[in-house]
Amino acid sequence: MAYSTTVQRHKTREVGVGDHVVGGDNPIWVQSMTTTDTFDAEATLAQILRLEEAGCEIVRVTVPKKEDVAAIGYIRQKIRIPLIADIHFDYRMALACMDAKTPDGKRAVDKVRINPGNIGGRKRYEEVIRKARDTGTPVRVGVNSGSLEEDLIDKYGFPCPEAMVESALRHIEIAEGLGFHDMIISLKASHVPTALECYTLFAQKSDYPTHVGITEAGSREYGTLKSAAGIGAILLRGIGDTIRVSLLGDPVPEIAAGFDILRACDRRVTRPEVVACPTCGRLDIDLERIVAEVEERMKGLSNPLRISILGCLVNGFGEAKEADLGIAAGSGKGVIFKRGVPIRNVLEADMVDALWEEVMRFEEDTPPLESYVAKQQQKEAKKSALPVIG
Ligand code: SF4
Repeated sequence: MAYSTTVQRHKTREVGVGDHVVGGDNPIWVQSMTTTDTFDAEATLAQILRLEEAGCEIVRVTVPKKEDVAAIGYIRQKIRIPLIADIHFDYRMALACMDAKTPDGKRAVDKVRINPGNIGGRKRYEEVIRKARDTGTPVRVGVNSGSLEEDLIDKYGFPCPEAMVESALRHIEIAEGLGFHDMIISLKASHVPTALECYTLFAQKSDYPTHVGITEAGSREYGTLKSAAGIGAILLRGIGDTIRVSLLGDPVPEIAAGFDILRACDRRVTRPEVVACPTCGRLDIDLERIVAEVEERMKGLSNPLRISILGCLVNGFGEAKEADLGIAAGSGKGVIFKRGVPIRNVLEADMVDALWEEVMRFEEDTPPLESYVAKQQQKEAKKSALPVIG
């Protein structure tokens, strides 16, 4: 079922990245970035394959040197997802990446990411854009609070959201002047309110799709929370066409975190959501174990069910109305309900198996819940269909 949403997505133009289309009504894609030296092709490939396995949809690799450029064709041929080359400071690497080929003669990179503030000025930026135009390579123009143009710092005094957005719009205008439009924009800041303001301001002024992330978010635990706050806030304003949760260390956990943020924000639900009560003194069942077992079983599922597990019968029914399936448990037994209606009594020992059976049955025989938004729209439609009397 599709969950309801009250967030209107900011309408952006579409940009093709490999076989994915970014922007418009397309899914908000989850990206990550490798941490290996790209010239170590086998290590990079192994990391990308783990990322693919975890569900990563677009991957970025670092390409600061010629040796890295030499490896990307080999890597691209062996992976399924679009590959982005991040060239950091040397604009010549961007040019080389756009010419690079896989061993079987296909394009090695599906997009190039540049920060126009650190590649050495307008002429070099224009050279990259011309090459992108001529080779049909999309470009992520990544504006970063740490590398804004000096004139904008002079004008605004510090890298405020207005300065960052002006920088992005300036670089879009230059590219458009060269006949190039295949851009995705990012405005990265590690300060969450600044990032939120940047993306909001940008969305008010432009329809280019955006890649959203909180840069240098930090360690796995704090970085996940900070990204959830920042990316989540931006997504809830309807902004963002791809996301990346930047975490310190192994990038694989970034993927689950990205999908969890999308799901929590109701922007893209790709697997079941298990919600549970926090438990309290009224609890007399091992709820933590039950929730852990249910979550483990749901891992492989891609149907976006909402499953609620509550620790007592009294509150369980009332709080379960928004769920597709759930358990209201207590004193060694419980009730399984479907959309608020009790359907089975179960013993504690059988709860997980019984719930699993109902999950398996659910998709076959249950129509999707009518979303809150759909209901509101129907109400509005009825109102506007009424004849005006006067
Ligand atoms: S559902 Fe019951 S056990 Fe869970 S927190 Fe609420 S009152 Fe406590």
